[in-house]
Amino acid sequence: MEKKNVDWANLGFGYMPTEWRFVANYRDGKWDDGELTQDATITMSECAGVLQYAQTCFEGLKAYTTEDGRIVTFRPDLNAARMSDSCKRLEMPVFPEDKFIEAVEKVVAANAEWVPPYGSGATLYIRPFMFGINPVIGVKPATEYQFRIFCTPVGPYFKGGVKPLTLTVSDFDRAAPHGTGNIKAGLNYAMSLHPVMEAHRNGFDENMYLDPATRTKVEETGGANFLFVTKDGTVVTPQSDSILPSITRRSLMIVAEKVLGMKAEQREVLFEEVKDFAECGLCGTAAVISPVGKIVYKGGEICFPSGMTQMGPTIQKLYDTLTGIQMGRLEAPEGWIHEINV
Ligand SMILES: *Cc1c(COP(=O)(O)O)cnc(C)c1O
Repeated sequence: MEKKNVDWANLGFGYMPTEWRFVANYRDGKWDDGELTQDATITMSECAGVLQYAQTCFEGLKAYTTEDGRIVTFRPDLNAARMSDSCKRLEMPVFPEDKFIEAVEKVVAANAEWVPPYGSGATLYIRPFMFGINPVIGVKPATEYQFRIFCTPVGPYFKGGVKPLTLTVSDFDRAAPHGTGNIKAGLNYAMSLHPVMEAHRNGFDENMYLDPATRTKVEETGGANFLFVTKDGTVVTPQSDSILPSITRRSLMIVAEKVLGMKAEQREVLFEEVKDFAECGLCGTAAVISPVGKIVYKGGEICFPSGMTQMGPTIQKLYDTLTGIQMGRLEAPEGWIHEINV
């Protein structure tokens, strides 16, 4: 198979349509079989549920070319399960989890020429999503839905080297207690756009959100979970019902404990103790881990000992191990690597 003629190493994170996407429709109480299509556009009523009341959720995962030339995805069963949780919370019909994985396989196989070659640093980003498509004007769930998966090649996250991020502690809240913070709903991102643009206007890369009830505990950023390392080498991630359960973060915690033999704890993290950590990183599919160098808050700033030019040693080890597993250089825990038959 010939790869597309793309300057993989210089790709950014943008939408570059590929030939094929998967579409399934839910009508009369059931999903159709779905199919691959070349049509990248969607025609819908002006009154579609998604347009009026934001009834939509999504997922994000990647396909990689391994060192030995296979195309693989990473733990897609967890994306399927998480999307089913999102759908239930938004009163949307679950797209069956086995069908979700089959659809990912089909889209990636059909777009195999777009899976960037091993060593390029680029990957194929896969975006499953679902939305209410029939007219809804009284506030209630739609009765018809569309499930789609498209994919788009994305460039290496750390182009020109790693640059630790500077965060600010946001005055805004990301997710209410018992709200929708733990599902991947589009609405969680709509409301985060103003806070993140404010952060950018003030010279920061991202927001750290605290728990809205007490504003004393660390939650997450707009799109990534926190991972901290204590001075004695324990990996710590915040526990809260309103944090989105990042697959990357959950995998890194297992890598820390089971592969690297470190201590790993998920527990409430007080903002007050952040200054005592040795390293801080943000976890998500896009970057795996982005190091945080500095956190600015009203009345002070926290500068992590790992500094502003590199990843701290523990975060670097976690990053190298997980990316090694994803790229097939290191042995993966059972069930983590899902090969695509092209
Ligand atoms: C998607 C997402 C993450 C990262 O999850 P991964 O499964 O690791 O990609 C973290 N926080 C939020 C709010 C997210 O939407």
